[in-house]
Amino acid sequence: MSIEIRLPTALRAFADKQEKIGVDAATVGEALEQLFTKHERLRQQLMSPEGKLRSFVNVYVNDDDARDRQGLATPVKDGDTILIVPAIAGGSAVLELELTTAEKARYHRHLIMPEVGAEGQKKLKNASVLCVGAGGLGSPLALYLAAAGVGRIGIVDFDTVDESNLQRQIIHDTASVGTSKLKSAEKRLKGLNPNVRVELHETKLTSANAVDLFKRYDVIADGTDNFATRYLVNDACVLTGKPNAYGSIFRFEGQLSVFGLKDGPCYRCLYPEPPPPGLVPSCAEAGVLGVLPGVIGTMQAVEALKLILGIGRPLSGRLMLYDALEQSWRTLKIKKNPGCPMCSENPTIKAPIDYEAFCGLKENTVTIPEISVQDLKAMLDKKDKFVLLDVREPHEHEIAKIPGSTLIPLGKLPERFGELDKGAKLIVHCKMGGRSANAVKFLREKGYDATNVAGGINAWSESIDPSVPQY
Ligand SMILES: [Zn+2]
Repeated sequence: MSIEIRLPTALRAFADKQEKIGVDAATVGEALEQLFTKHERLRQQLMSPEGKLRSFVNVYVNDDDARDRQGLATPVKDGDTILIVPAIAGGSAVLELELTTAEKARYHRHLIMPEVGAEGQKKLKNASVLCVGAGGLGSPLALYLAAAGVGRIGIVDFDTVDESNLQRQIIHDTASVGTSKLKSAEKRLKGLNPNVRVELHETKLTSANAVDLFKRYDVIADGTDNFATRYLVNDACVLTGKPNAYGSIFRFEGQLSVFGLKDGPCYRCLYPEPPPPGLVPSCAEAGVLGVLPGVIGTMQAVEALKLILGIGRPLSGRLMLYDALEQSWRTLKIKKNPGCPMCSENPTIKAPIDYEAFCGLKENTVTIPEISVQDLKAMLDKKDKFVLLDVREPHEHEIAKIPGSTLIPLGKLPERFGELDKGAKLIVHCKMGGRSANAVKFLREKGYDATNVAGGINAWSESIDPSVPQY
């Protein structure tokens, strides 16, 4: 065997994991023909049906590009090395994978539609989507992407399945409570469609890892539940040029859009700044109708599939608002902001920033005076003079309250703080301590002596009075 063909890692899977294969040949074409005879699957990967090398594959003889010589007719001699170098993107080769017979049966309802067809199904097979979050939105999203045959599905999450997740996170099941969300999601997705590759990223998405991670996928689907990560997803999408199939949910309402397309707006064009922390409660605080993430996450899957297939009109430059109680959809136009710090011609943000600080989450923990629920109990026992202020919503106050508290919901505080005695010592609580921290910050700015109760009424129920229900 006088000529050695070397295969890159990405192609070895098609050649019984071999790195080097020896052949006897006089030209590059002959050498490749011998290689393909031994490993037929490589032929499908590297050659077009017309028998030409596909355009994403380069062949080198020793260190020279064969195209610069005589292409497949380039002569080779004893001792030469032929190197096959496909284009790679983020560690995976850009290979056009053909559909197997079983896949043709599985995707039959796609194949019979001319808008998808075998070509579209191959696009799906060769595509990749990164789902940020394996929660309410990520559940239907990842399931439908897997069912549709998206070849590579990445999921970022670092949580474990909690019983309270199962009201909406349908990718997980009762038996998986307490286990990793990623492992649980992988099991379900592989069960649904063993043809797809599921890549698990058991980590928090951070400014340090987002850009490298996003580079490895074609479409990013934002299924996060906090503003810091939303801005991070947006910025990393713009920086890497990846479209963001965006969805968000709150109680009975959902939002949907596609951000980061070349001429379309980004999330910062729509919302240049996040709301102050605590103003918009999280789903954990405010609740969410179980099926709502099902509706919105499914629509995110629709947009992701359209982007991959290149069909229809992407939901770029439009914000869809869903109201489950009204059973209505509204579509608003959104414009690219010519002064956007992220996606305009002259961006001022050129790398991911500190999103916790941007969303005002650090400030609170540093500057806000705080007491524990034990301190509060001692103050009540000693009959200290103070006003205990509850800044939750009235229905939460109905479910559970600390006796003697005054209720002014956080959202009403800017118009109602005048009702509070300026000379009084204010002790402020909410459910878990987040909204009340924001209220304390606001009240101190207005000249009040306000202090936060760490852990809120949940901590009170856990450590002081178990008869106060947790919700
Ligand atoms: Zn923008």
